[in-house]
Amino acid sequence: MNPDLERLITLQRIESEIDEARRALDALPARHAALEASLGDQTATLESARQRSSDNVAARRELDKELAAVQTRLRRYKDQLMEVKTNKEYLAMQHEIATAEQEVARIEDRLLERLLEADALAGEVKAAEASLSVARTETAAQRSALDAERQRLDSLIGEAGARRRSVADSLSAEALALFDHIRSRRGIAVVEARDGHCSVCHVRLRPQFYNELRGGDTIFQCESCGRVLFVAPQAAAAPPAP
Ligand SMILES: [Zn+2]
Repeated sequence: MNPDLERLITLQRIESEIDEARRALDALPARHAALEASLGDQTATLESARQRSSDNVAARRELDKELAAVQTRLRRYKDQLMEVKTNKEYLAMQHEIATAEQEVARIEDRLLERLLEADALAGEVKAAEASLSVARTETAAQRSALDAERQRLDSLIGEAGARRRSVADSLSAEALALFDHIRSRRGIAVVEARDGHCSVCHVRLRPQFYNELRGGDTIFQCESCGRVLFVAPQAAAAPPAP
């Protein structure tokens, strides 16, 4: 194979590695953000459960106060009942007492509801605390995994950059200029030709042109997209397509 063509193929392979590593690197901040957002959701769930729990405590305190007030009133009515002089006053007082007793029962029902709710909320708080604690541990591990990934990608890019320079230095000036020109316009400069087609723009190559490509002696460009074409050694060794 033409040595420059071989180096161009290697150069493209290295550049593709670098591109892929850069894309992975660029995706890291979003992956970090997704981790933090998920942890934020768990924190918000816990805060909401705690808020509802403290609202419940406040509501029960309020009901306790109401209950005490009604019970005080009820005791006063009962004391007054001993001092009434007329039957009419007696009946009126009994009516007040019955009303107050109903109110006590109503407040006690509401208190019981709130107590049941308090149990459920305590369970919710406990569950949210447990899952937040698990999430914190997992997030910390995932954060370090992402940091390790960043280091790996950084060093891969550095190491591939060194390989790229060494291959570029061994290329002829014309071949390197051609590579840089196509790469700046097309992203990928060197692509495989397969089954008589350019594997990127898919144009069908003339049979004579494809056969020359299989020889690998010359640097040919796709007549449609302009990229440098090559036929992989295995495909080149196979008998020509009928
Ligand atoms: Zn093409």
